[in-house]
Amino acid sequence: MSAASGHAEASAGNSTSHEYKAFLATPRGAWAQVSDADWNDWRWQLKHRVTTLAQLEKLLPTLTPEERAGVQLAGSKLAMAITPHFFGLIHPDDPRCPIRRQVVPRIEESTVRSWELSDPCGEDSHSPVPGIVHRYPDRVLFLVTDRCAAYCRYCTRSRLVSNAAGYDFQPDFDQQIDYIARTPAVRDVLLSGGDPLLLSDDKLESLLSRLRAIPHLEFLRIGTRIPIFLPQRITESLCAMLRKFHPLFISIHANHPRELTLEVRDALIGLADAGIPLGNQSVLLRHVNDDAAVMRALVQKLLLCRVRPYYLYQCDPITGSAHLRASVRRGLELMEGLRGHTTGYAVPQYVIDAPGGGGKVPVNPEYVLSRNADRVVIRNFEGRVFEYIEGAGQPIPIKPSEAFEAPKTPEPSRVRRM
Ligand code: SF4
Repeated sequence: MSAASGHAEASAGNSTSHEYKAFLATPRGAWAQVSDADWNDWRWQLKHRVTTLAQLEKLLPTLTPEERAGVQLAGSKLAMAITPHFFGLIHPDDPRCPIRRQVVPRIEESTVRSWELSDPCGEDSHSPVPGIVHRYPDRVLFLVTDRCAAYCRYCTRSRLVSNAAGYDFQPDFDQQIDYIARTPAVRDVLLSGGDPLLLSDDKLESLLSRLRAIPHLEFLRIGTRIPIFLPQRITESLCAMLRKFHPLFISIHANHPRELTLEVRDALIGLADAGIPLGNQSVLLRHVNDDAAVMRALVQKLLLCRVRPYYLYQCDPITGSAHLRASVRRGLELMEGLRGHTTGYAVPQYVIDAPGGGGKVPVNPEYVLSRNADRVVIRNFEGRVFEYIEGAGQPIPIKPSEAFEAPKTPEPSRVRRM
């Protein structure tokens, strides 16, 4: 059976916003005969990932020469692995499918620009002990594994994850925990990798317990794409275990509204019901989500899954990712299309992770047109211009008779500080 089974006719290029917003069950495609028990078992999903060219050729009749060559190179750069769940979202007849572009390697990955970097965020140079990145004053990144349920072709840690490039990451939890315990400035730990939710419940519980025992640690976070790649992993027992470690936040990683399926929504609601605040970190990707209707549907749909859009990342200049990077200009246009046009909670912060280790820098459309000591001239989402008066201007006397009057309607183009 073709993986096309169960797909709506619309592809990435012509879907309407309404189609993006619908929560659909993941088509099982080639795995239609698999029992529900197996399909819903996260270990079965991991065991049956698509990892070889032979599998891909069978499942994707429209495999292009660029993709075929890309898969052949993946074993020495960043491995290919796609869970059956995520593979079911690929439209097999559409080489431009935004799901496919994220996980199927392409030969363009072997083209390296002079400004691209294997460690664009400078993590290795901010690593006091292996597996800890200490770049900001009060928080650290704790890398727990180099494995993910599936591999994103633009991964900022592709030097490390999957071990295809021979990085040979061997986390030593004792050493990592010891660094945090003897560094009182650290109040916040972000578990990442690789994907921390690939650890067994027992191993994750042990790690979280050891971290919670450190008195100066206030806050724990997990960064994971498991709810998107492998929603079956979000079991009741996992949620029950995680809820013991509050305050614990989880950042997920969804890039396209079609990733938010019925199964994914259930998984996210399970985490939210366990009291875990959820945020989403998207990466701006060319021909994946660099489109106003796609981005709007994504952020609105995330709220329906009780996930707050948190960051929209400009794609890091990771080696071989030029074909996936959209311009900053496009990112700013997309942000303009969100702010004021939809719920404020749905608007993420657009950031560039400063290449070389400068950390996240917010970038915003220009809403401040001019500013001096007395006034700020601003424009709103409709392009209307307003003036906000502040500073040492002459005080405007208020007559006692006016003091308790209902406020008059302000002039439309002027806001006065009271
Ligand atoms: S899930 Fe995260 S760490 Fe894993 S490949 Fe994707 S971006 Fe990289």
